[in-house]
Amino acid sequence: MLHEMGPYHPECPERLSAIGDRLIAAGLDPYLLHYIAPAVTREQVARVHSAAYIDEIENAVPESGLHYLDPDTALNPHSLVAAKHAAGAVTLAVDLVMAGECKTAFCAVRPPGHHAERRRAMGFCLYNNIAVGAAHALAHHGLARVAVIDFDVHHGNGTEDIFAGDARVLMASTFQHPLYPYSGDHPQGPNMVNVPLAEGSGSEEFRAAVTERWIPALDAHRPQLLFISAGFDAHREDPLAGLRLTEADYAWVTRELMGVARRHCGGRIVSALEGGYALSALGRSAAEHVREFLGA
Ligand SMILES: [Zn+2]
Repeated sequence: MLHEMGPYHPECPERLSAIGDRLIAAGLDPYLLHYIAPAVTREQVARVHSAAYIDEIENAVPESGLHYLDPDTALNPHSLVAAKHAAGAVTLAVDLVMAGECKTAFCAVRPPGHHAERRRAMGFCLYNNIAVGAAHALAHHGLARVAVIDFDVHHGNGTEDIFAGDARVLMASTFQHPLYPYSGDHPQGPNMVNVPLAEGSGSEEFRAAVTERWIPALDAHRPQLLFISAGFDAHREDPLAGLRLTEADYAWVTRELMGVARRHCGGRIVSALEGGYALSALGRSAAEHVREFLGA
């Protein structure tokens, strides 16, 4: 909540309040187990980011004000602490799910992560939280195959940069194209299932992409743990993009992915928040995502 990038920045602390408030209003909160996210360790981050990049971020934290890493990504004095706990949330979620303490976990974290490349911060992202979690599952828990699903409206260029060519990781995504960061139409490796969607696409195009492209690839990969980069900015109310999804689509895709997880990995899913900038739509969409996890 202390990581702020200026008064008009869409990636704002209120995003987390919108989700928390909606979980309470929807009556879901009493059924959730809440955990405090630990700080990620340098060893855990170094599985997906270069040592030089980790040092660069550490040294760039200002004592006051903002330090810009790119035109829309800034550090304030609290940002690095927030980033460490955001990535740490995903590693804790992996540990909890692998230990059988819970089947599914949703990490309501910021800053988001999927634009952060191995050697570069960008697009509101510092550490690639979902990549840190996936690498933790592979290295620490000894898994041989995981999958990362990314339904954020923006292409997850950072996750692709980190895992392209790594046959242990299947990445399947949908994103509006062309749109920031203007990548993804040419997949960087055979383990990338990238499905660009034209501006104005909605439920029908999204569900066809999931059914025809993601699900067969996921079933062929047989992941032992499923990760979701859960950005909710493909919602029709979102001001940053032009897709037309609704809460019902987020509930539907969550059920589809739970089906994949049941078929291959005992239902284990770790999901982490990425984008979503229309506060009401973000809260409603994230709550429907969590509602499906609860089976409520
Ligand atoms: Zn996004």
